[in-house]
Amino acid sequence: MIDLAAAQQVLKTTFGYDEFRPGQKAVIEQVLAGENTLAIMPTGGGKSLCYQIPALLFQGLTVVVSPLISLMKDQVDALNDNGIAATFINSSLDFQAINERLQELRAGDYTLLYVAPERLDSDYFIQALGRLPIQLLAIDEAHCISQWGHDFRPSYLALSTAIEQLPTHPQVLALTATATEQVAEDICGRLAIDPQHEVNTGFARDNLDLTVVKDQDTDRYILDYLKVNHGEAGIIYASTRKEVMRLTSLLQKHDIKATPYHAGLDDMVRRQNQEDFLYDRVDVMVATNAFGMGIDKSNVRFVIHAQVPGTLEAYYQEAGRAGRDGLPSEAILIFRPSDIQLQHFFIDESEMDTEHRHLAYQKLQVMTRYANTQGCLQQFILKYFGEASAPCGRCSNCTDQRESQDITTAAQQVLSCVVRLHSRFGKGVVAQVLTGANNQRVRESNLNTLSTYGLMSGQRQKSVVELIDFLTASGYLQSVGGQYPTLAVTASGVAVLKGTTTVHRKTVQKVQQTVPENS
Ligand code: ADP
Ligand code: ZN
Repeated sequence: MIDLAAAQQVLKTTFGYDEFRPGQKAVIEQVLAGENTLAIMPTGGGKSLCYQIPALLFQGLTVVVSPLISLMKDQVDALNDNGIAATFINSSLDFQAINERLQELRAGDYTLLYVAPERLDSDYFIQALGRLPIQLLAIDEAHCISQWGHDFRPSYLALSTAIEQLPTHPQVLALTATATEQVAEDICGRLAIDPQHEVNTGFARDNLDLTVVKDQDTDRYILDYLKVNHGEAGIIYASTRKEVMRLTSLLQKHDIKATPYHAGLDDMVRRQNQEDFLYDRVDVMVATNAFGMGIDKSNVRFVIHAQVPGTLEAYYQEAGRAGRDGLPSEAILIFRPSDIQLQHFFIDESEMDTEHRHLAYQKLQVMTRYANTQGCLQQFILKYFGEASAPCGRCSNCTDQRESQDITTAAQQVLSCVVRLHSRFGKGVVAQVLTGANNQRVRESNLNTLSTYGLMSGQRQKSVVELIDFLTASGYLQSVGGQYPTLAVTASGVAVLKGTTTVHRKTVQKVQQTVPENS
């Protein structure tokens, strides 16, 4: 068996690093011991070395399955420059070129082979792989194999069968930066990984400061931000191609070097724009979620979501593209309830089956909670991924200087209204009843006869909805169901109603700008 000292040696001589990063050592040790392994490490955590180093130490071939066709060539070139015999096979090669490469691979000319998952859809290719001396199969972005993940790719499913068909019975190393416990379980099940052989370094990114922005004009916010952070590299995500184009021209009009990226652009244009960004010819990439997977641009200083994405997994993965170099970086979510409705519409229109649709609605509700919590944002995300942590002290909630107010009475009004409505209605109706709205819906259901009707008649419906969102994010209320969720009071909500717990909320008013003296 190869020992860790040999791996340490390769780390130093081939890659020029003195020490392993957290997790790398454990993963490599397990892989060298011949165990199927799942590695969960944050973006920029150094997953590549986890298979590149064993590849260099193993006799046989290491095959890397990676969805990043656009970057495969760059990655392989970089390895070649480093004196490592690596090559790739993807759709950019014609039949003849593929066969030539396969021949060279059979002759043992290479240490590493990168392939796109789509290749595995072809029986011909799987048979060809079967003739190669494969010892290790590294599966990048392994969460794509799980239908419970946020980026399921059918081609990944073919992996489990493909592996069984390989006569060399290679060992498997699955890698991902984003997996809930359920997804991790799924990956282990499908790839025959003993859950004991999961190495999870945690999801925390200590150099990433999380911010949620609410109640602000998106364009104004972005322009102001870019003025302060002029010349820094960053990504701005939007949900639609149209919004990507609109934001790009807005920025360009303000002399910001920005370029767009979305699936509707011509291949050539897309590649050009991506390269402009990678090589610092433009500062800001404005993109849909089509951009980014595997983009190894280390100096991205900020990721702004101009619109809320559909899941927290997607959010954190996209946000995590900032600061791969380990330097301080920002991830900012601009939250507007209308963008939640847009995501809701995407789910309505999608072709998911009932179960997945239901799940998608629930994942979207998590985004609303994330945006409305006043607790630590990092803690919220880590908890979602099943990890306990202390408040980060850096996010926009941890650093929120506004004073907390006792809002127990208002909370009790909302909670008792939900109780009176027998948990049969969603937040919109609850807000209408509380503010005493006099519309058909309310009259037809006789909601105007409830004792809680009009209890908050002095307030705007919007601010009552925000209060409900806050109470939901704080765990006093929960939304039940998928497409049309209804509100229910939780156990901690009951404690509030009984008066055994008080509720505090940071005041909504903006902090007064103080004019410095002697200015
Ligand atoms: P991931 O795939 O986990 O997002 P990468 O494998 O691309 O991350 O690594 C991110 C960066 O960290 C790369 O530039 C890589 O060279 C660097 N890196 C990896 N391991 C180490 C290490 N042990 N010491 C220093 N830098 C490292
Ligand atoms: Zn925090």
